[in-house]
Order: sequence, then C-alpha cells, then structure tokens
Amino acid sequence: MNKVKFFYDMHIHSDLSPCGSEDMTPNNIVNMSCIKGLDIISVTDHNAADNLPAVMELCNSSGIEFVPGIEVTTREEVHVLCYFKDIFSALKFGDLIYNSLPDIPNTPSIFGQQNIYNSKDEITGTLNKLLISTSSFSLIEIYSLTEQYHGIMIPAHINKKSNGLLGVLGFIPSNISLKFVEVYTKADIDEELIKNLNILKNSDAHYLADISEAENCFELNSLEEVYNYLCIK
Ligand SMILES: [Zn+2]
Ligand SMILES: [Zn+2]
Repeated sequence: MNKVKFFYDMHIHSDLSPCGSEDMTPNNIVNMSCIKGLDIISVTDHNAADNLPAVMELCNSSGIEFVPGIEVTTREEVHVLCYFKDIFSALKFGDLIYNSLPDIPNTPSIFGQQNIYNSKDEITGTLNKLLISTSSFSLIEIYSLTEQYHGIMIPAHINKKSNGLLGVLGFIPSNISLKFVEVYTKADIDEELIKNLNILKNSDAHYLADISEAENCFELNSLEEVYNYLCIK
C-alpha cells in the first residue's frame, strides 16, 4: 500500500499552560489546525492534562487525529513530551504529575491563567499549583512511568539551552531507549549526536498564529497508525 503524508504538530500549548495565550482555547486550537491543513495534533500542556478531553472531542468531530500528550518538567529541569495511546492513561498520568508538583500557587497576574475548558470553550475550572514548576520525578523515572501508563516519552527541544536534554545534560543518557527526539529548529544541533534517531519538528505554539503550517509530516498507511509509529516496538 502506498504511504500517505500526514501533516502534524505534536507540541501545542493550551490556555491551561500559564505561558499559553488566552486565545488557545480548544475550539481555536482545533479550528486553526484545520485552517493550517494539519492531519494530526497533540496538545501538550506543562505538567497537566486537563484540557485534553475537550480538544479530543473537537478533533474527533473535525477529522483531525488527536494524540493525547503532556510536557513534563523532570527534576533535572528537562522538558519531555509524553504521548499516550488513550486519553484515560493520559489523564491518570497527568494527575500523577500534577500531584508531584510543589505547593507553589500560580499568580495569574505574573505567570498567566491556567484555565480548564469544555468543548464549548466555557471555562470550567482552573488549576492552582503553578504548572511551570518542576515535577518530583527524574528523567529516568518519567521514562519508566510513561511506559507503565502505555505511553512514549520523547525529549522536547533537545538542543535548547534552557530545558532541553542536550542543553541541560549535554548528552543523551544511555539508560533510555529513544526512537524520536524533538529538535528546536531555531538553534544549531550536533548532527552526530542524533544520527540514529528520528526527528520530530513541532511548533511549541503558545499563540494561535504559531501553530505549524502543513510542513512536517509522517508517512503512514493510515492516520490511526500514528501512535504506534512513534513507539519503538
Ligand atoms: Zn518546553
Ligand atoms: Zn512546550
């Protein structure tokens, strides 16, 4: 069977992330993704999963393939993208990560709102703990926890000085097996370090206009294959 190119953006922040714009509501994200011609998206808020159900519902009715995700800050202050086969695992994992955050309250006037939405873009709640804090789990702990929750961990923007795996640790640890790494396109990277890995290029959008154009794609037999394609086995 001939493979088809499916355009993706697997790293988008909603208004739940304090740094995400208030325009990053579920409907705006999904509508913008349609306008941009994307086939596959993932919303990956910092250390929480609460807006995934609304975005998933809207993706399901618009024909966009949705992969539930979270961007976790490990104890080493490395950002990793965790993707899940199903939303229930993502939500349970999200609770575990949120509960591991320190009891530092968000100050919306400084950091921004942390709003939870339903699929009609109505605000149904907020999260109190500051989501850009560091979780209590180490990189290797997140790696195995993600696996336990039927997910896959992909280090985010590895070549970014702040919060990137290479920027923080300077190397890719040998005790984790990776198929993909996310590369930040606006910074240089030592190609030698990533020569055996697949590259994910995402927007890391915090504003609507920054959601990717249809430029990065996976070649798959069908849309439903995307999650398995990200996995090693
Ligand atoms: Zn990040
Ligand atoms: Zn991000």
